[in-house]
Amino acid sequence: MFRAYPILLPRLQSNLPQIAFEILAECPTTRARTGLLHTPHGTIETPVFMPVGTQATVKGLSQRDLAEDLGVKILLANTYHLFLRPGPETIRGLGGLHRFMSWPNAILTDSGGYQVFSLSGLRKITDRGVVFQSHLDGSLHTFTPESTVDAQLAFGSDIIMVLDDCPEYPVSHEYARESLERTLRWARLAHGHYCRRLADIPTRHALFPIVQGSMFPDLRRRSAEALTALETDGYAIGGLSVGEPRPLSMEMVEATEDILPRNRPRYAMGVGMPHELAEYVARGIDMMDCVLPSRNARNGCLFTSQGRVVIKHARYKDDPQPIDENCPCYTCAAYSRAYLRHLFLAGEILYAALATRHNVQRYLDIMREIRQAIRSGSFPDYLRTVRSTSEDAE
Ligand SMILES: [Zn+2]
Repeated sequence: MFRAYPILLPRLQSNLPQIAFEILAECPTTRARTGLLHTPHGTIETPVFMPVGTQATVKGLSQRDLAEDLGVKILLANTYHLFLRPGPETIRGLGGLHRFMSWPNAILTDSGGYQVFSLSGLRKITDRGVVFQSHLDGSLHTFTPESTVDAQLAFGSDIIMVLDDCPEYPVSHEYARESLERTLRWARLAHGHYCRRLADIPTRHALFPIVQGSMFPDLRRRSAEALTALETDGYAIGGLSVGEPRPLSMEMVEATEDILPRNRPRYAMGVGMPHELAEYVARGIDMMDCVLPSRNARNGCLFTSQGRVVIKHARYKDDPQPIDENCPCYTCAAYSRAYLRHLFLAGEILYAALATRHNVQRYLDIMREIRQAIRSGSFPDYLRTVRSTSEDAE
């Protein structure tokens, strides 16, 4: 009998790895490492930066631009937005998120927790989940630890995130502790539900719980210890880049790095600026995502190997040079700063496409440099160079 989809054999049990992580080289003086993350939709070289495709699209770029021209191996999509529109059942009915958005490589979806707390109105948090009001039409919805796993399984995500409570900054230790205990309860519920669901699903999906604890090292450590007991395929560190000073974000990563199992990938959520990427890698981080390259591109801020270019500046009016002469992207091969400035000032949509392509290329190039430096044993030198140039360059 003809089947539209191949059935993968054998059926995988939840206690077997859903993704495999191989460490190929480690830096002898920092915690940096480079490796391969094998997912159901391809192998990813780590450390990796994941461009953000909030609405199942990286704004301004086609999937061909991303996969073929830029070589992106993994994208992040947003459960909150895709849950509200077009909805998990619609996406499941259309063959899952990969087929819906025509994306051949891996997809990580966040749990929606962060957006519920930052975007939606009328939130009511209970131990069972969170009731929230859609920012689109005011309709009421509930996210539970179980329902967000179900939504992400309907999407067919390669990496699923657990629902977490992400506090603002700053909050009191008492508030952070309560919030953390809730996140831990939710993680256990999500993990139990995920294990039960996987028993009936032939495809593979990894689940990452999220370390929280605001800016308190003792809570961060408690969080990492409790989540490590779940023995998941990877771990995320959340609640960073919520307005805290950057040294504090780094301290929070350091607080948990030696607790999280060294043989699993670690994902720092929502970071960072170009000069910060190597800092996270030096602290044992393997995966990062951020809207900065795409959002800043649209706002006229372009990242280069020589620092930032704010394209609207009058000094670029007659500038025939590319954004970055060291950049291999199509935008830099074909267009001048003067032309891009003109497109930006005229509000042309081509500007967003060209600028985003360049900024994403810049982030991917930084990650390539970092991986190469770890492999060749020169990562400490690379980090020193980044630190000495970042103050004036970024
Ligand atoms: Zn470029």
